[in-house]
Amino acid sequence: MTVTELVSYEDALATYDPVMGLEVHVELGTKTKMFCGCSTALGAEPNTQTCPTCLGLPGSLPVVNATGVESAIKIGLALNCEIAEWCRFARKNYFYPDMPKNFQTSQYDEPIAFNGYLDVDVDGEVFRVEIERAHMEEDTGKSTHVGGATGRIHGAQHSLLDYNRAGIPLIEIVTKPIVGAGEKAPEVAKAYVTELRELIKALGVSEARMEMGQMRCDVNLSLRPQGVEKFGTRSETKNVNSLRSVERAVRFEVQRHAAVLNDGGTIIQETRHFHEEDGSTTSGRVKEEAEDYRYFPEPDLVPVAPARTWVEELRGGLPELPRVRRNRLREDWGLSRHEMQSVLNAGAIDLITATMDEGAPADQARKWWMGELARRANEDGVELTALPITPAQVARVCALVKEGSLNDKLARQTIEGVLAGEGDPDQVVTERGLKVVSDEGALGTAVDEAIAANAAIADKIRGGKVAAAGALVGAVMKATRGQADAARVRELILEKLGVEG
Ligand code: ADP
Ligand code: MG
Ligand code: ZN
Repeated sequence: MTVTELVSYEDALATYDPVMGLEVHVELGTKTKMFCGCSTALGAEPNTQTCPTCLGLPGSLPVVNATGVESAIKIGLALNCEIAEWCRFARKNYFYPDMPKNFQTSQYDEPIAFNGYLDVDVDGEVFRVEIERAHMEEDTGKSTHVGGATGRIHGAQHSLLDYNRAGIPLIEIVTKPIVGAGEKAPEVAKAYVTELRELIKALGVSEARMEMGQMRCDVNLSLRPQGVEKFGTRSETKNVNSLRSVERAVRFEVQRHAAVLNDGGTIIQETRHFHEEDGSTTSGRVKEEAEDYRYFPEPDLVPVAPARTWVEELRGGLPELPRVRRNRLREDWGLSRHEMQSVLNAGAIDLITATMDEGAPADQARKWWMGELARRANEDGVELTALPITPAQVARVCALVKEGSLNDKLARQTIEGVLAGEGDPDQVVTERGLKVVSDEGALGTAVDEAIAANAAIADKIRGGKVAAAGALVGAVMKATRGQADAARVRELILEKLGVEG
């Protein structure tokens, strides 16, 4: 059914309590596929990275990718999960042209990791999202529907299939029902996926780039009347592909469910498609029950039984996790939670630390990345990391400021030059002639000239009107095209006129 009249978000929350479930698929960055030796590299010609196993040809046999298992365990540990002593793969049977075996090798009732949690920060408060399980599976191939208006199969003239993606390892991370988020449900969902993405990146198991489909989220949502214990029926919005969309999908579904329920209707358990253009969802297919898939243990693969010594070794090797690191940096840098949140949202944490590694002080590194450079990135509509300037170059600008070769204005021009492709900071300074005039002789001459040209003002200053010095400083700065150190100029003027600053 299509609902034209959504209930306002506030009205929906006044009557109902949202319950969410987030299923996130992460494509691992392993070199080869989960059950064969085919390459996982992106951008190859269609169907050039396939073999009998990932094409599901009769007689072929799968072999488990050890790095895939290792990555799954690392993710499980980082999510505070228990790691199975023994688990199996299972066949999830269904037919779809992009899945050549007619079953997906997945895990069902024996996931590799289960019972964990991830703490996320929402508006300065900690919200704990409980994890039901993280399991291993494989990706499907990719269908391209040609000839229709929408790119969907309906109305298409023919479809193309590329099996390069078939068999790439996926980890699916499923939350327990998320209750208690109340009106903050959309923010909690977004914060959870954001934190999970940071975690995956920190573990080095995937680049987790949502825009490239390396991480995708299914958003389950139901409403129950305020005060009622029992969950309502959920809808499952599939393949939501950006952080912002996760937030919007939750918000939209809350409003849609409320509209249906207020009308006395019932929510049907179905999958839904999310539409970026207007943030709406539309009906997909009626949801299968697990039994429709006729799961059974995969007979061609041995069980996975990770030795406890190996699991403990992996636990010991986990990197500092993003939230812990963020809290540590926040204290080191002396920022409020709100300020740190801005740094995080701008994607600037790693850039700032890298700039510090190149020798810049924290406040300077932050000032440039969160100020001038954030402004530029915003103007150009790109991520900070996409700007054509490196942390080393920013650190060099900081060093030039510190040694007094550049003032703030000149530093900004230097950065502008680097961004314009004029080379390293030192090259830009030389080419554009940006060095602060710190040569005392040249500066002295400029000051003498300014005094001579403004005799009346000079007299006032001699007579005690120190405030009038500003005009002379201005004249010198003009004469040196802004390349003098204004504080030093002021000192020189007062010195030459024989007055105390
Ligand atoms: P399926 O494979 O059918 O999608 P899963 O168990 O893999 O089922 O995932 C369902 C997700 O939805 C889980 O995150 C679960 O916690 C959540 N969930 C289950 N019931 C509800 C409900 N009534 N309302 C909201 N979320 C729910
Ligand atoms: Mg699911
Ligand atoms: Zn293969």
